[in-house]
Amino acid sequence: MTKPIICRVALAIPLHRQFDYLLAAHLCPKDPNSLVGCRVLVPFGGGPRKQIGVITATPEESDYAIDKLKSVSQLLDQQPLLSSGLYKLLNWAAIYYQHPFGDVFQQAIPTLLRKGKAATFKTQEYWKLVQEDVNLDQLARAKKQCHAATLLQGSPIAYEQLKSQGVTRATLNSLQEKKLVEHYEQMPETNLTWPHDIRELQEKPNLSTEQAIAVTTVTQQLNKFKCYLLEGITGSGKTEVYLNILKAVLEQGQQALIIVPEIGLTPQTVKRFKARFNVPIYLKHSALNEQQQLETWLHAQQGSAAIIIGTRSAIFSDFKNLGLIILDEEHDASFKQQDSFRYHARDFAIKRASEQNIPILLGSATPAFESLNNALSGRYQHLFLTHRAGNAKPPRNDLINLTGLPLKSGLSPQLIELMQQHLAKNNQVILFLNRRGYAPVLMCHECGWLVKCERCDAFYTYHKSANYLHCHHCMATHPVPEQCHDCGSTNLHSTGVGTEQLEETLNQLFPDHPTVRIDRDNTRKKDSFNNYLDDINSGKYKILLGTQMLAKGHHFPDVTLVALVDVDGALFSNDFRASERLGQLFTQVAGRAGRAEKKGQVVLQTFHPEHNLLQELVNNGYGDFSRTALQERRMAQLPPFSFQALIRAESLNATQAENFLRLCKQTLNQIADNNKVSDRLLILGPIAASMERRAGKYRFQLLLQSEQRVLITKTLNIALAHFEKLPEGRKVRWSIDVDPIDF
Ligand code: ADP
Ligand code: ZN
Ligand code: ZN
Repeated sequence: MTKPIICRVALAIPLHRQFDYLLAAHLCPKDPNSLVGCRVLVPFGGGPRKQIGVITATPEESDYAIDKLKSVSQLLDQQPLLSSGLYKLLNWAAIYYQHPFGDVFQQAIPTLLRKGKAATFKTQEYWKLVQEDVNLDQLARAKKQCHAATLLQGSPIAYEQLKSQGVTRATLNSLQEKKLVEHYEQMPETNLTWPHDIRELQEKPNLSTEQAIAVTTVTQQLNKFKCYLLEGITGSGKTEVYLNILKAVLEQGQQALIIVPEIGLTPQTVKRFKARFNVPIYLKHSALNEQQQLETWLHAQQGSAAIIIGTRSAIFSDFKNLGLIILDEEHDASFKQQDSFRYHARDFAIKRASEQNIPILLGSATPAFESLNNALSGRYQHLFLTHRAGNAKPPRNDLINLTGLPLKSGLSPQLIELMQQHLAKNNQVILFLNRRGYAPVLMCHECGWLVKCERCDAFYTYHKSANYLHCHHCMATHPVPEQCHDCGSTNLHSTGVGTEQLEETLNQLFPDHPTVRIDRDNTRKKDSFNNYLDDINSGKYKILLGTQMLAKGHHFPDVTLVALVDVDGALFSNDFRASERLGQLFTQVAGRAGRAEKKGQVVLQTFHPEHNLLQELVNNGYGDFSRTALQERRMAQLPPFSFQALIRAESLNATQAENFLRLCKQTLNQIADNNKVSDRLLILGPIAASMERRAGKYRFQLLLQSEQRVLITKTLNIALAHFEKLPEGRKVRWSIDVDPIDF
């Protein structure tokens, strides 16, 4: 008997260490290397508990005595689960994002595979006729059975499909008793023939010159890596460009991956893809159940999906023959995962395209400064759509100076007047206010006491209809106090305006023009958002009041006025990305106006009409605004002109987090010194986070910054092993965020 093989296994644990196990020789394939990438079930941490991990190597020797090693309990895959290309990319991501490979691997695969299920389709129950030429006359008096037997003429059909056509199990059983039909289990049919028939199903518009240039530029250079930035104003027909490029890729028999911010919010876009091509399209999003998730994943891997449309994590789909990646609304913050494995789907996608040698197309009306800078410097190829498609005209933009004006729940007399004009023409109006609840603060009018969350450095938001206080940072709720805790006065009033209050005011001001409020409080129920969308499109609602949710992708042909009620906070934020976000928000919200034949108008209310970035934005648009703001970033040496990583720590005790970060800083300084890079690697902090206390924890951070990305990666790679050994690290929660977008 040959000796067992050593398997190095990465587990989904928060440690970078991997563990060695033994695999009995008879279970091992001829080439032990082919075990790399297979899942295993192994004992871990004493006791009966087993964990699923992935084999990352089969070393000749272990650092531990062979007789001390435990055995693999079960080898779950006979061949590597992922293509070698994707496997390598996940390794890169683990190193770049400083996250344990075992956990990266698990986050990249469907839940059922994480749980150890086999990577195969589930068999389905199929029904068929016992004899092809069944005489239907005998069923003349059993209508349902006749219907079922008719359906089954020709070929077997899966039970699920019969069910969807109104056939019940009882009917099938009756037919079976008559020995007319029988059933069997089989793998579902997969469509591997789609590349031979990608027929377009629809009439499509003639491309504008700019669209045609964008399409040909990309389609002339398929089959090689290139990153394109399609900077196209809202309504300029970016989706039409995607569809035309897709066609060329599908015609080559290649698959395509389309990443979007939120599928639930953009059902129209998905419909357009499905309506265009006669190919299997699968959606990957959080509403899928575990089985559907797995099957979608398998379809992509085996080539029976032509197109995958998905949110952030779809970027980890494995493909048989991927030919193109499209990232729509590439500026969207949801592409960055904000906990545990903090990857950015855009950056991962670009790395992926480059490794697989295929084109990637980033599209946006408001490109992220990172992408814009790469396009302006020539690293990406820059494509433009500067006109609205069809007859749609660009909206006109105005600022309203709020200084000295009497406001009604934040609305100026000018804005109310404008709303009246637009509504009188039977058009719709959008009001944007990114603050849910009734009011952001409750205050004592006798002594100035403000009702503050006990666990956060933040005030409670007052929700009037539900009648409670809610902390939007730790989610704590609190009854509305009757009296001031300081002076006992009952003179408590709310200050500031949230969407709930504005809705109340709008109902009073415009009783004949129904208002709909779209925010997270109001759309929690499944499908309620889509129902609202239907009612908006049918004209039931005239005034659309909403938060961020309204800014995304929707096309409302009758909206002619869009107003941003209050965005001044962004002008004076200490987050250097606040102005970029304001520019994107303004432009995206503005893009909802006048998308059809009707000309639109966009209004921004502000107490600071003289602010130069606001002026640039409102008068010259995002294009000029972003290029000016980018210059400011360059002067300040901020991203994208430098790279950053953030080490965050939090603890219940006020000093532990800060102390831990001090030790981290010492380690980092030492490593930087040893490698002679101290002059090129800035280590700043530790400083308190912008909200120092949240959910009862004190939060601190340490910032690394350098013009050379690789210095951050390498220094942190070495430092991590030291951080993990610091006893002070066990008392705090800490994490590393590479390329952070939130501070
Ligand atoms: P974007 O994605 O840039 O916001 P869309 O692709 O949604 O823009 O296009 C906006 C509208 O214009 C859609 O209704 C689309 O069908 C239409 N459209 C796009 N391209 C053309 C074209 N070349 N001619 C006429 N209409 C077009
Ligand atoms: Zn008081
Ligand atoms: Zn709180």
